[in-house]
Amino acid sequence: MTIKEVIKAAKSKNPKLNEELIYKAFLFAKKAHQGQKRMSGEPYLQHPLETAHLLAKIGLGDDTTIAAGLLHDVPEDTKYSLKQVEKKFGKEIAFIVSGITKVGKIKLRGKKEEYDLENLRRMFLAMASDIRTVLIKLADRHHNMTTLYAKEPEKQYRIARETLEIMAPIANRLGMGELKGSLEDMAFKYVFPKKYKKTLELTREKYKQRKKAVNSAIKEINGILKKEKIKAIDIHGRAKHLYRLYLKLKRHDMNIDKIYDLVAIRIIVPQIRHCYETLGIIHKYYKPLIKRIKDYISLPKPNGYRSLHTTVFGPGRTLLEIQIRTPQMHEEAEFGIAAHWIYSTDKKFLDTLLKRDKKDQNLEKFKKIKSLKKELNWVKQLRSWQNSMNTDSQEFFESLKIDFFKDRIFACTPGGDVLDLPEGATPIDFAYAIHTEVGNSMIQAKAEGEPVSFDYNIQNGEVIEIITQKGKKTPNEKWLDFAKTGVAKSKIRQSLKKSKKINITY
Ligand code: MN
Repeated sequence: MTIKEVIKAAKSKNPKLNEELIYKAFLFAKKAHQGQKRMSGEPYLQHPLETAHLLAKIGLGDDTTIAAGLLHDVPEDTKYSLKQVEKKFGKEIAFIVSGITKVGKIKLRGKKEEYDLENLRRMFLAMASDIRTVLIKLADRHHNMTTLYAKEPEKQYRIARETLEIMAPIANRLGMGELKGSLEDMAFKYVFPKKYKKTLELTREKYKQRKKAVNSAIKEINGILKKEKIKAIDIHGRAKHLYRLYLKLKRHDMNIDKIYDLVAIRIIVPQIRHCYETLGIIHKYYKPLIKRIKDYISLPKPNGYRSLHTTVFGPGRTLLEIQIRTPQMHEEAEFGIAAHWIYSTDKKFLDTLLKRDKKDQNLEKFKKIKSLKKELNWVKQLRSWQNSMNTDSQEFFESLKIDFFKDRIFACTPGGDVLDLPEGATPIDFAYAIHTEVGNSMIQAKAEGEPVSFDYNIQNGEVIEIITQKGKKTPNEKWLDFAKTGVAKSKIRQSLKKSKKINITY
């Protein structure tokens, strides 16, 4: 990769690119990484160049993002400090670069439950604090995944798992389906090597056959639609990503013959009435499998997804899945992935809440829904921004500061559990959030390895260690003033009451 290629790619998305700034960032990165090599043996500079190039390729061609992409590893990995970056490139670029250094510290530790993974994702977004930081981090990870083979096996597994469980879901939330699929597929190999191999073996032949069948079917359908005077905007084949395919196979006893959408055909037509017309024409020429005709236009999926789906006996009687939609539905389908994510994690929980009596509703849970909704809006905003990338994008970027976690902080235990706490939370809140006993027996607290007072305000991303004394059962009454959360306060009160009772009995 060369800087010329990066500039060319960025310019194709943003004709007003400040080439001088990009070149200056390149020269600075070159000087800073001079002599450094990647584990793969390449000069280090290739990595920021690849990162910046991918950013441009996925549509992020603005000056700040590309420059920050080129500089993203300078403060962490070279003798040049963040201050020096700021002096040379200004506050904004330095701010974004510092965010990348911060989120780079988030690591998966040990095997975690789903709940903790979700908190890790939130911590990632909260600490990134700017959408551009998130996107650069995703591009950075994408390139790191392509050279993961050069790392030691233990690191390979950890990084790949992080990619699968933190990065890909975030890309998904941003509606970046392609990036998500590619991150998942690269991670799949390292996280589940045997399953990866099996899926490949199981599908390789079938996939080739399907692709061939789909290509000839597209030609035939094109002819049919022309003859029937339907103006298709686009007809294309869509191959299923390998990791997604594996998940689907798992639901079908690993029987590849049950997967009809290994390669599906997508037909994009101008209006809704054309969708139904096209479906009718397709059925006139190819017999459908009756159970697999799905009208998601009149009956959209819970996440809002709309399209007509049908599986037909195509040319040569091969089973083919065909998806028919308008350009707008096609756009929404991308966004719908994000909505789907929220639904699949919180649908049950939303449902139970809606059924419950209002008085009964738990405030914390309500807040959670509110933040999910806020998040959804944020994704919507991002979506519209992506659509208007070619206009003056600077304004949009400025409005994309991540603020839906503004009043929450995320802190870890030394073991890697992530706790979601309100802003201003103290070690007392942290200890009681782990367990009542941990709170009651607390004698000291450390933040990032340094002792802190009990009224210390925990900062985002900090590792907090609670030191306890065995057998200590009573909190200090003063702690009530230091606790920020209702949970900690009520636990302290309960424990104090209990200890008084015991005292009387004695
Ligand atoms: Mn990097």
